[in-house]
Amino acid sequence: MNPQPSEPQSDALPVELLPPQTTIIAIAARVRLVQASENFDLDLRVASQATLLNGRCVRLSTRIKRFAGLISSLVSSIPSGAAMRKLIFSLFYLLFSTAIVSAQQYDLVLEGGRVMDPETGLDAVRNVGVRDGKIARIASETLSGRRIVHADGLVVAPGFIDLHQHGQDAASQRVKALDGVTTALEMEIGVPDVAQFLQAKAGHSLINYGTSASHVAARALVFGAPLPSGEILPKSGPATDRSATPEQIEAIRQRLRAELDAGGLAVGMGIQYTPGATRLEVIDMFRLAAERALPVYTHVRSVGRVEPGSSIESISEVIGAAAITGASLHIVHINSSCLQDSLECLSMVEGARARGLDVTTEAYPYIPGMTAINSALFNPGWQEKLGISYPQLVLPDTGEHLTKERFEELHNSSKTKWVLIYANTQEVVDKVIPHPLVMIASDGAEGHPRNAGTYSRVLAQYVREKGTITLMDALRKMTLMPAQMLERSTPAARQKGRLQQGVDADIVVFDPATISDRSTFQKPMEPSIGVHYLLVGGTVVVDDGKVVLDVFPGRALLGPSKRAGSKPSD
Ligand SMILES: [Zn+2]
Repeated sequence: MNPQPSEPQSDALPVELLPPQTTIIAIAARVRLVQASENFDLDLRVASQATLLNGRCVRLSTRIKRFAGLISSLVSSIPSGAAMRKLIFSLFYLLFSTAIVSAQQYDLVLEGGRVMDPETGLDAVRNVGVRDGKIARIASETLSGRRIVHADGLVVAPGFIDLHQHGQDAASQRVKALDGVTTALEMEIGVPDVAQFLQAKAGHSLINYGTSASHVAARALVFGAPLPSGEILPKSGPATDRSATPEQIEAIRQRLRAELDAGGLAVGMGIQYTPGATRLEVIDMFRLAAERALPVYTHVRSVGRVEPGSSIESISEVIGAAAITGASLHIVHINSSCLQDSLECLSMVEGARARGLDVTTEAYPYIPGMTAINSALFNPGWQEKLGISYPQLVLPDTGEHLTKERFEELHNSSKTKWVLIYANTQEVVDKVIPHPLVMIASDGAEGHPRNAGTYSRVLAQYVREKGTITLMDALRKMTLMPAQMLERSTPAARQKGRLQQGVDADIVVFDPATISDRSTFQKPMEPSIGVHYLLVGGTVVVDDGKVVLDVFPGRALLGPSKRAGSKPSD
């Protein structure tokens, strides 16, 4: 299918090349002009400098004929003799030929790949010309560029957008890039200090980044127990378990407003990590988001089938808050928040949407979850809720299954330690991932293989092996759907998640026949294979399957207050 509306016919002219050893090529263009008044033919041979492209034969695609027509009509309007006209013609031509050559030269051309765009439905072999960080041209005809990347047999798609990435360190960014991700945002919980986060990342980020404003962190701060540097989840204690006074709620609101002013993209909530937050406090935070016309991203209050505190009740709570306040709502990892009731939870999201509410959701393609062992998620009652006990808690670094004693020790420690939670089943995951409302998001952090393997795993297992999602639908879940969710926060997201002319050149080039996750619970940072190239804002960050060192093209996605200053050099 080719929905590209106005693709011109190829008007390429042959280009004669010097031998590949040389770095200069002469571009010769033969243009035949028929000028009505004098009927003269011109045989033009113009040499111009251009960089040789990997020593390969290049055809210059050009609109020289159009310019020649313009020149021709200008010449005919001059009243003096033929010699004068020819002189003026030559001058014009020299000027235009230089402009034409530079106009047609792309920074990089992805040649002959299967170009796929979930928004327009384009799925065809095309050449993609990248210039100045944007996709400048998508065409059937040959394009010339300073660099040509041969993408035959590879899929050329919008770079994947991960709305839920906790690991924002360089090592995590490298494995994300090799998993096809060009934008990875901390939206679930949000970072404790938005300005500090943005400042630390500016000019040092391989891929694009951004964050929500953290209700969890704001609450901890107001309760006098600020999160230690580098942490996003508080230790279980009075600050997480007590309800807030009206004064404290007001202070939390003030802090969140300041964090949104600093560039936060949304309000991030982890209600299960702050069980002391009353239903009213939750509604108040949704009100705050609505006041800024921003969404709420949330990990819901509870999980399981035991009432009160079931998954169904927890999803009802946040859908209710969205209905009451008008704030958009994104429910994170519906797979691990709803477990065996995941399809029921999805039907609730579907019902809310059918009633006009703006509710979205996401999932990751793994059975176990992972969280901080000392968090309030493990407050008394967790075994009944999750339907598991100590042996189903496993330390990711050692593979140690916990005992009661070991659990008590780690849960009561002030030191955060990640633990894997085996409470879900493959059957549930296999039903959730293909659901049309479900976006793919990794919930990535070091220790769990989802950090490095989420996107390749969906493409390998669900598209190629199980065949339960089409390649285009999988791409939609990884690109267009998260981009559209982000549009609630910033218009910059309209330039992402699409493979179209004029949008940001965030592009993944992968082999659909071989792309696979390689990360395991034993080797969680093992990078995926199959991503041959990755471009972030037109800069190549994965080249021939390897991460490029010392390039940091990643830019911030910013909330309404800070949109103007999004530069990597900030
Ligand atoms: Zn979570």
